[in-house]
Amino acid sequence: MRILVVEDERTVAAALRRGLQAEGFEVDLADNGDDGLWMATEGSYDLIILDIMLPKRNGYQVCREIRDSGSWVPVLMLTAKDGEYDEAEALDTGADDYLSKPFSFVVLVARINALLRRGGSQPGDGLSVGDLRIDPIGHRCWRGEEPISLTAREMAVLGFMMRRAGSVVSKSAILDNVWTYDFSGDPNIIEVYMGRLRRKIDGPFGTRTITTVRGVGYRLEVET
Ligand code: CA
Repeated sequence: MRILVVEDERTVAAALRRGLQAEGFEVDLADNGDDGLWMATEGSYDLIILDIMLPKRNGYQVCREIRDSGSWVPVLMLTAKDGEYDEAEALDTGADDYLSKPFSFVVLVARINALLRRGGSQPGDGLSVGDLRIDPIGHRCWRGEEPISLTAREMAVLGFMMRRAGSVVSKSAILDNVWTYDFSGDPNIIEVYMGRLRRKIDGPFGTRTITTVRGVGYRLEVET
């Protein structure tokens, strides 16, 4: 497994490389946004750890351009704890997860493993509900014949709901299953994801398949 770390603080980058190598990962470093973007799009990585405050291009721009290039590689963004940067914004640019600095290395490794596990679904996991289809292996999604671009985590949330189509799923069930055991952030992040999914799988198609069941959770409607 190869990980790209884009981080301009040399001591942090060096510590990440040492720690991740000790966990058995191959690690490449980039110390600015331009190099990070180039390496992310030209290289073959299983995961990218991306700082936000970077010389040249910031982490938001790098993440957005990685996604614009059509890459689904899981991106874990490192956010500053001073509140200057909005975690929802990190996710809006296409990051799959975020971690506030300073972070525990144990938590970082758990998040990395969770992201890598999600990327490694089993064959035969293709799902369809109405004319909505996903192929988690190939990280692809379609409404009818129209391809829809989803991040790894959006795909995971949608896949979880598609397996339970027609039933109400609670926020905590989604958190437990998609964010795994180490989620420590705001559960309202689920609302952010539902908004993003609606804008992608419903809005452009004039459908309303994600229903909010007030006080309970969400339901993916079987009939559109
Ligand atoms: Ca930085």
